Formats: sequence, C-alpha cells, structure tokens
Amino acid sequence: MQSLPRTNVADLELAELEQALESLGHRQFHARQIFGWIYRRGVTNFALMSDLGQELRAQLAGAFAIDTPDVVRSEKSQDGTTKFLLRLMDGKQIEAVFIPDTPSQTFCVSTQVGCAMKCGFCLTGRMGIERNLTAGEIAGQVRVLARELGMFGTRFNIVLMGMGEPLHNYDATMKALRILADEHGFAMSGRRITLSTVGVLPALERLATEPFMPNLAISLHATTEEQRDALVPINRKYGLKELLDACRRFPLKRRERITFEYVMLRDVNDTPEDARRLVRLLHGIRGKVNLLPLNEAAGIPFERPSDERVNAFARILAEHGVTVSVRTSRGRDIRAACGQLITESTRQAPGARLALLMKP
Ligand code: SAH
Repeated sequence: MQSLPRTNVADLELAELEQALESLGHRQFHARQIFGWIYRRGVTNFALMSDLGQELRAQLAGAFAIDTPDVVRSEKSQDGTTKFLLRLMDGKQIEAVFIPDTPSQTFCVSTQVGCAMKCGFCLTGRMGIERNLTAGEIAGQVRVLARELGMFGTRFNIVLMGMGEPLHNYDATMKALRILADEHGFAMSGRRITLSTVGVLPALERLATEPFMPNLAISLHATTEEQRDALVPINRKYGLKELLDACRRFPLKRRERITFEYVMLRDVNDTPEDARRLVRLLHGIRGKVNLLPLNEAAGIPFERPSDERVNAFARILAEHGVTVSVRTSRGRDIRAACGQLITESTRQAPGARLALLMKP
C-alpha cells in the first residue's frame, strides 16, 4: 500500500505543513495542532495526537512521516554535560551536547556531518565533510534532547557549535531556526540562539538581512592575516579585514554584541602582542571576546597555554575596555568539549557500531 514516499513533516515550516494538509483536502489549522504535538510535547506518532479525529490520524500516518534522529548512546560527564550520539535516517551519525547550568541550560547542536573548514586545532575538521544536515535534522536534535532530558516546556538556549559550519549549510540552518522559532512549537527567541561561524562572508552578508536573527559568534582565533590563514583556512578566501568590516556593518539591536571566539594556543596566538592587536582590531565593533583555552587532543599539533598566560591575555583586553570571558570547557572527560566532536562514519548498515576516533 504505502508505496508513495511520505512527506517528512520534520522538514516543514508551519506554512508548508498547512499547504501540505490543504493539498490532501484537510483543514490548514490542524498544522498548528501537529506542530504543538511535535515541538511542545515531543510526540511523533500521529496515533497519539488525541485532539485530531481518529480517521484524520490514520490518514496523516499514511501520508506523512516525522523523521527523528535515534539516540545511539548518551554519555554524562562528571560536570553534568551530556553528549548524545545520534543516528540519522541514512545511518550517518552526529553528536549533540547538553550543557547544564552555565547558568542557563544549553543545547549544542550540529549543522553538518563533519566539517569542511579544517581549522588546524579542531578535531571535527579532521573528518572532512560528509554531508549537510537537513532543517529537520538540525531542529530534530533539539526535539530529541528535550525529550531525553525531560525539558519540553522548560527554557533553554541553543548554540550552533556542534559539528559543522552553519553558514556553509545556510538554507537548512535558517529553516531550522524558523521551525524552532515558530510560536506554535518551541517558540525560541533569537536571543536564545547563538550561531557560531568562521565567517563565510557571502553567507554572513545574507544573514545580516534575515528577519529572524540569532546572536552571532565569530570564530576569530587570530590577529593577523598570516596567522589566521594558517589556523582557519577559509581566511585565505575571506580575510580577517573583510570579516571585521562585515562585522562592523552587521545590524545589531540595542545592547546586542557580537561574540568573538578566540581559541588560545600556546606560543602561537597567546602573547601580549596578540592581545594588543586584538584590542586594535575590535576597535569600533560592538563586541566581546570569549577566550577558549585549547581543548587538547591526540593528533592536534597545539598545546593549551597556562592559566597565567590566559589570564594575562584577558587582563590586557579588559584594561583596554574590551569585555572578555574565559570559557571553562565542559564535558572534556567525555570528549564533548569544543572541537572534540568527531564520529567515524559507518559505511556499513545503519546500526553498525560507531567508533570514536579519540582516546580519553
Ligand atoms: N563551525 C563553527 C562552530 C564550531 S565549534 C565555528 O567555527 O564557529 C565552536 C567553537 O569551538 C569554534 O570557535 C571553534 O573554533 C572552537 N574549537 C574548535 N576546536 C577547539 C578546540 N580543540 N579547543 C577549543 N575550542 C575549539
């Protein structure tokens, strides 16, 4: 019977679901009810959507699917950070991380399987890029974490800082944000979502024109073109100067600021001169700096600076009026910290065991 491919509701914005219902002869307003079930309660089985008629539920189940990533495994860190290994419909695997009490509750989600950016200190980059995630797979991570953690109906933040470069998967990422923002679902405000990017410039310019605006975090990591060319290869195409110019033009609401992430690598970019150059570079930009002392890993040819080095760097920024924070890395014991998300793709059948490439 069911030979026609079913439409995947997880990939639809509300208006698209309304149209899909209408084209099947159903009333549009059921879309809001369905969104409520999926995004407010985590229900993905039409049979359980009890405010829809029995017959309608059966018809919906025949015409639609609600694809949801499977949890292969979850690991909880001593600090409460929990890493979820998720399997997508095609068997590819990604990771999403719950970071509690920062003081807010944060979901860190992926936008791609792997990453094409190849930043020199990031393990995910070692995987290369396998494919983009769909909007449904990006928003689906949030649904799965909310369900697994019993957090439907509670407040949380979302950071697009898992695997992948969100602006290298622009359309799906923005669609996922619209799905997450829908008032009939999670009703996320842009202020609770942070998009972190290396600065794919054409996409950043496009982001500047979006009606739905997340907070922006820029992975800067260096203070000269040469240094950034070496650490963040996309800088050879879209350089530091153009990136900062785009940041200057980026529309910010009152009191909003761009976060500049700066991974700290011993004897590479952690000197007082680097700090002073950073102060000068950020002049005239409404920004703040988040220092990320490197999370070391086997195969990453850099070291983490001493705390004294990090503090001295932070002090120089602060003395020059730059707001600065140092990110305390969470979940390192389960390899869930920044730059530590990596899965080996399994080309075998779905269900094949995942091999984590890293040793604890
Ligand atoms: N592709 C996006 C999201 C990536 S992860 C981006 O680059 O912004 C979020 C942050 O973790 C980025 O700033 C990234 O550069 C940083 N990061 C990557 N590897 C790291 C490591 N080993 N230690 C600390 N931070 C790291």
